[in-house]
Amino acid sequence: MSMVPLIVKGGYGEHGRSCFLFPFQKNKYAMLDCGIMDTDPQPFPVVEPELLRRTEYLFLSHCHKDHSGAFEHFREAGFKGWLVAAAPTVKCAGIDYDRTILLPDPKGGLEEEVTLKGGLSFFYGRTGHCAGSIWLHFFGAFGSLLYSGDYQKRTLAYAVDPIRGRQADLAILDCAHVGYEEDGDGLRGAMTERIRQIVKEGRRVVMPLPKYGRGLEIICMLRRDLPEVRIGAEENMVKLTRQTLSYSQWVRPEAAQEIRRFLEENPISALEKGEYDVLLIGDTHLEQPESQELAREEAEKGALTLLTGRVKKGCLTERLLKEGKAFTMAYPHHQSRRDLLEMMEENEFHGALPFHNNRKEVFWGNSALYL
Ligand SMILES: [Zn+2]
Ligand SMILES: [Zn+2]
Repeated sequence: MSMVPLIVKGGYGEHGRSCFLFPFQKNKYAMLDCGIMDTDPQPFPVVEPELLRRTEYLFLSHCHKDHSGAFEHFREAGFKGWLVAAAPTVKCAGIDYDRTILLPDPKGGLEEEVTLKGGLSFFYGRTGHCAGSIWLHFFGAFGSLLYSGDYQKRTLAYAVDPIRGRQADLAILDCAHVGYEEDGDGLRGAMTERIRQIVKEGRRVVMPLPKYGRGLEIICMLRRDLPEVRIGAEENMVKLTRQTLSYSQWVRPEAAQEIRRFLEENPISALEKGEYDVLLIGDTHLEQPESQELAREEAEKGALTLLTGRVKKGCLTERLLKEGKAFTMAYPHHQSRRDLLEMMEENEFHGALPFHNNRKEVFWGNSALYL
């Protein structure tokens, strides 16, 4: 066993700002993600200029801002290395950078080993979190390190290459839903049950959803588990869904067909005619004036807003929550604590850091330590 000297700059003991580094050769570093904490007045991970200059490779696990948002900031601060990511990540994060290595879309099955100049080798696969989202498994003279990125294997829409049967000296593992003992299926079951009850009471459910991510999952969940529930969607939601479907290698084929059928049934017209029980809005914090108007109108008519992600301070979502017109529930697009423990059992990790939550916990051999 080797000791991988990991440098943590964000994402451990906090929900956002993911940024980890390790030396893969003397004085040469690889960085895993460069996220921000957009609720913090100082949102960036603090990386010393010398360390930034020695960062040869910056890997982005996916496009979400809590993993990619500090890229421009690091560039201005002196990062001149290579950016390594899947094509949808670079596109959706809006990054335009000359020194970019695009990883080919994974095709499932046995992953191929990649070796970059300077002798950094790794495997990668899809995490089921959004288009372009990958896990990475590095190995070399420094030992072996696995980074799960944002991960959930029990998906409905996104394709997954499960992290299974892997060995690593150190693993950095998603455990964003740390407070939940159910696995992904259990969390989803609780959500559909709650929606079923609200609709039965004759009320509507409004679901604001992020630009890239769980929208496709929610469409599949509603259609499969609540076929009697009518779904409406506004224009932006439909546009974003179409865009994600175009990354065909990242969506399960049967789910892509199902979502296409949903789009053909014209959810925008369902909204215009008022023929819906659940309304999907492609604006996760309700920041656009049109979505604010729509959500307000629905709330005044008795609808409940279901928030499935982080609640951003000062947004309409927070106000609706305070007024008792909204409620929160976790959609499993990350790992719960049970998912994490299952992953620990299915792999051989000597040490593991669960990240993406407010706890500070380390698994070492058979022990769990709380810092
Ligand atoms: Zn994410
Ligand atoms: Zn994240």
